Amino acid sequence: MTDTPTYEVYAIRYAEQLERADGATYLGGDPTKMIRGLDFFTYVITGNGQTFVVDTGFNPDLSGEGGRNFLESPAESLSKIGIKASSVEHVLLTHAHFDHVGNLDDYPNATFSIHAEEMKSITGPDMTFAPFRLAYHARDAKKLIELLYDERLKFYEDTVTTVAPGIEFHLIGGHSRGQLALRVHTSRGWILLASDAVHLYDEVEFERPFAIFHDLQKMIDGYRKCINIAGGYEFLISGHDPKVTDWYPPLAPEFEKRILDLGQSPKK
Ligand SMILES: [Zn+2]
Repeated sequence: MTDTPTYEVYAIRYAEQLERADGATYLGGDPTKMIRGLDFFTYVITGNGQTFVVDTGFNPDLSGEGGRNFLESPAESLSKIGIKASSVEHVLLTHAHFDHVGNLDDYPNATFSIHAEEMKSITGPDMTFAPFRLAYHARDAKKLIELLYDERLKFYEDTVTTVAPGIEFHLIGGHSRGQLALRVHTSRGWILLASDAVHLYDEVEFERPFAIFHDLQKMIDGYRKCINIAGGYEFLISGHDPKVTDWYPPLAPEFEKRILDLGQSPKK
């Protein structure tokens, strides 16, 4: 029996929204004030001779919209920990909302992966519905199509896919049609990068629906799925909760609140 490899997993907090969460973040809130108080992350996974970047963040020209402040390009943050974006070969996309698939050009030698359901969603009838289009940008969709024709976009089609030994993608859906969560084996056990299957821990704890979704039932089911797969809050990494920033230690003191070591236990 071979041992499952372990990986280092770092969260890169590349943007923030200083106005903290209020009722408008959840279903039924004031749509003119929708979605407040999020932190924005990409991730990098290294180990077993490989490096995977997870999501690419929103484009810096969107900084300022919705109170979001872009802090630093994720590729720039990677360079500070010795990873050149131009040498990255694998970028895993959890879904195609604008804050996860901007900056694709920063990884000129990478192959990108996304779930087939997500690609169908952003290029088909789903996008004729304004509420489903809300967090997508046409330029990102066009860019993904370009990557497809350049043979640099691959699709996952199963509910659970092994990306590499010790790294698994789980199709959760709900928030977006092809929303994925990523399970990664670390030295402290398996952790779940829930991405936007869980934006904020309150969604799971109180089964409180986030305001943007494709399928409400699947999104709420997804909250239960994510906590079950993770096996506890200390192994569940929400996609946008400022608590992640508060709980996880920086990789080095100069990366306080910017590059977080998810392989360490959270201090909460
Ligand atoms: Zn997001």
